[in-house]
Amino acid sequence: MLAAPALSTNADATHGFAPGGLCTALAPQASQRGRSTAVLAGDPGKWDCTGATWPISGSRSTLVRIDMAGHDPASGDVLATRLTRFEKIWITAIGQDSSTARIAIDHDDLTFSSTRWIMHMPLPRLKGPVSAYVVEVEGARHPGIFSDMSVEPPAGPQAAAIRELVLAALCGLMCMPLVLNFAFYRVLRQRFVLWHALAVFSMLIQTVVTSGLVNRFASLSLMQISLLSSLSIATTIVAAAQFFADLVEPGMLPRYQRRALDALTPWMAFWTVYYLFASGPLLPSVADLYYLAFIPVLAVLLGSMVTAALRGSRTVWFQIIGWAPLIATALSRIASLLGMTEAPLGFMVEQHLSIAFEVIVTSLGAADRFMAIKNQRDHAVAQSKVLENLAERDPLTGLYNRRGFEERYARLTREGYQTMAIIDLDHFKRVNDTMGHATGDAVLRAVALALMPDEDTIAVRLGGEEFLLLMRGEDAPERAERRRTSIPARIANEVPGLDGLVTASMGMVTMTGPTRFATLYSRCDSLLYAAKAAGRNRSMRELSMAEAAAGVPVAIPASGNVISLH
Ligand code: GH3
Ligand code: MG
Ligand code: MG
Repeated sequence: MLAAPALSTNADATHGFAPGGLCTALAPQASQRGRSTAVLAGDPGKWDCTGATWPISGSRSTLVRIDMAGHDPASGDVLATRLTRFEKIWITAIGQDSSTARIAIDHDDLTFSSTRWIMHMPLPRLKGPVSAYVVEVEGARHPGIFSDMSVEPPAGPQAAAIRELVLAALCGLMCMPLVLNFAFYRVLRQRFVLWHALAVFSMLIQTVVTSGLVNRFASLSLMQISLLSSLSIATTIVAAAQFFADLVEPGMLPRYQRRALDALTPWMAFWTVYYLFASGPLLPSVADLYYLAFIPVLAVLLGSMVTAALRGSRTVWFQIIGWAPLIATALSRIASLLGMTEAPLGFMVEQHLSIAFEVIVTSLGAADRFMAIKNQRDHAVAQSKVLENLAERDPLTGLYNRRGFEERYARLTREGYQTMAIIDLDHFKRVNDTMGHATGDAVLRAVALALMPDEDTIAVRLGGEEFLLLMRGEDAPERAERRRTSIPARIANEVPGLDGLVTASMGMVTMTGPTRFATLYSRCDSLLYAAKAAGRNRSMRELSMAEAAAGVPVAIPASGNVISLH
């Protein structure tokens, strides 16, 4: 804001300048510069005071006349204007007594506001009241450097502190989705999560830089601030486009729109470099072209959102709602630069709020899609578990089948399951032959019940009427034997009407070190064969070396048929 002049404005008004007004003109050629400024400043005919055009010439600098109408020079005011690049600035103070003072402003003389997109520079001092300042800007790239000029007191520390606090809170809010994104990514390796993180990060940088907050923590140069601002805008657009393309449900975007979203990357790269580095005769059009370049960007983003919405995408609504304020702000900024609306720096506040809103809503969108994908994945995992289970289980008894068991064997032995028993029904063929196959099946189911798998006992149907137990614990041999001896009663109980008991024989080994399945199995099988040969309905077990050395007599008293192969 222009500081209200303390003295009467009549004198200036009679000179034809509106008190407090801004006027602009192209500077005379460098050779006439010094002596003509004061003369020029007093001649309304040389100035455009409509506020409609702010000329940038590739070869001549631009003058801005700030009418001060008797401003008191002792107030310590500064010249404030939009933060944007320039080569060199000269400020001339013109006194009511026609005295002049002139200073040159270098980049080193700038200070940056920590609450607004504004840079400050010192003003030349006069002894008497100032009637006008004439600011000569060389190498301007953005007309805002003229149109946003004002003479103002330095910001009071209190007001600054509150604004900084609000901005810091806003930035803090934007950090949350960043953390959330990385948490998501750990669970679900989806690219859209990373694009969202990059978009949020660049919007955070854009807000920290253009709000001025960055100047509270770092002393950056004008060039560094401009670079950060332009690059963060470009990165935001690229990341947001890629985020959207990856996020939207499959089939919601036609190929040409995906390509258009991809094309935003080189497009933004080109125009950002152009905006930052074009010079000489290109200068007058730099800002206009740069801002115009955003129209196709918005068209591509809006076009793809509309298509996805028409095709029934759910996730696109988070994009549409999230982006609406930001797109509106962007359109206003473009329109104002192109002279269609006023261009208050207040747009920046709208932009910060729109960005925060966008971050929150698209984060919700990402979370929503994340949940949908996670549910799909969980469902698929559950489905494959069911299938895996089917492949690993014996359908008749529900016990592990040989395949399911062999896959687990190595892990189980490491977990302490070291006693293996092979159990085979005695004369089972007779049951089938006399009672039929269905009764035979019922007998097999009854055996599975008798084997009673528990946390220390794995029961397996190896095939036919042959079962396997793998057990852990000191008393494993006794527990295996109890299960074998319970088989006849269990069968009689479950399958009434059988003539006679169906018994089982067993061969059992407790391993003393790592043993391959095939080896252990064949040792058990030999013992089983021996048990069959010795008359069936009995167990044979290897005595361990320790047991043999200790003279353990009979490990399984119930059967009385323990043999030692040692
Ligand atoms: P042994 O005491 O020597 O073991 O004699 P066995 O009759 O039990 O042994 P054998 O190997 O001669 O016969 C096994 C029978 O098991 C042959 C087959 O009909 C029967 N069998 C294999 N699988 C199934 C099945 O899934 N259901 C039924 N009901 N019978 C089966
Ligand atoms: Mg048998
Ligand atoms: Mg058999």
